[in-house]
Amino acid sequence: MVAIVHHPAYAADMPDGHRFPMNKYAALAEVLRAEGLVAPDGFVTPEPVTIDMACLAHDRAYVEAVQRRDLPPDAVRRIGLPLAPSVVDRAFAAAGGTLAAARLALTEGLACNAAGGSHHAAADHGAGFCILNDVAIATAVLLAEGAVQRVLVVDLDVHQGDGTARIFADDPRVFTFSLHAEKNFPVRKATGRRDVGLADGTGDGAYLAVLAAELPQVIADSRPDLAFYNAGVDPHRDDRLGRLALSDDGLYRRDRYVIETIRSRNIPLATVTGGGYGADVGAVAARHAQVFRAARDHERDRA
Ligand SMILES: [Zn+2]
Repeated sequence: MVAIVHHPAYAADMPDGHRFPMNKYAALAEVLRAEGLVAPDGFVTPEPVTIDMACLAHDRAYVEAVQRRDLPPDAVRRIGLPLAPSVVDRAFAAAGGTLAAARLALTEGLACNAAGGSHHAAADHGAGFCILNDVAIATAVLLAEGAVQRVLVVDLDVHQGDGTARIFADDPRVFTFSLHAEKNFPVRKATGRRDVGLADGTGDGAYLAVLAAELPQVIADSRPDLAFYNAGVDPHRDDRLGRLALSDDGLYRRDRYVIETIRSRNIPLATVTGGGYGADVGAVAARHAQVFRAARDHERDRA
C-alpha cells in the first residue's frame, strides 16, 4: 500500500468560523481510515522539521520569529491565520510530513502527505494561509544532504505557487511548474520555470488537455530524481476560493494522470494536499481524498 504520512498536529486549534477550514485535516484522516486507504500499521508519523532545516529554505530571522510567535501584525495579517502555538506547531509538523513523504518516495517510489502544499510562503514571509513552505524545505534538505540532485515541483493548486517559485528562482536544480487560475490570488505572480495561467471557468476537458500538453515536456526539461505534486483541490467548481470548474471526476483524472506520467518514468513522487476551501468540511475532505485514491488505484493497477 502507498504510505500515508499524518501527524495529529495537522489539525490546529482555530477560532470558530475562520474561513480556513482547519478541521478538514482531521476529517481527511477519518476518510482515509474509513475507506481503507491507510496501511494496516497505520499512518506514518513524521518528526517536525527543525529550525535549521526550515532555514535551508527560509531566512533565519523569519523562522525564529515564527517560532517565537513574534511576527509584526501586518505579517500575521498577510498569512491570514492566527499565530497560535498549535498553528506554529502545525507548520513545522506539516513540513516534517512532506519531508517524510519525500524520503519514503525515494525508497518506495510513491508516498503521500495528508497535509502540506504551503506554497505561498516565501523565504522571509508567509502569505495566503502559508507559514513555512513545506515542499521548499523538504527540497532544500534533500538537496543539502545530496540525496537528490534535481527536483521537480508540479503545483496544480488553483493558486500560483509563487513562494516556491521565488525561493528557487536562482537555483537551477529545482524546476517549479505551476498550472493555476490566472485571475486568482496572488495578484502579482512570481516567475517560475514554467507557469500556465488558465481562464476563469476552465472545466475538465480543457484543463486536462493543457496538463497533458505541459507535463511530459516539463518532466523532460527538468529530468528530476524526485518530484513533488501539490494536488490542491481548489480548482473544483464548488470551491469557495477557486475560479475554475473541475468536477470530482476531473480532479481524480488529473491526479491519476500526474501519478501515471511521473511514475511511469520511474521518478519518485511525493504528494501533498494543497488548498481546498468551503464551509462543508466533509465535502472538502472528500475532495482531498481523491489523490490518495488515485495513488492506491495506480499501485493496484501496476501490480
Ligand atoms: Zn490554493
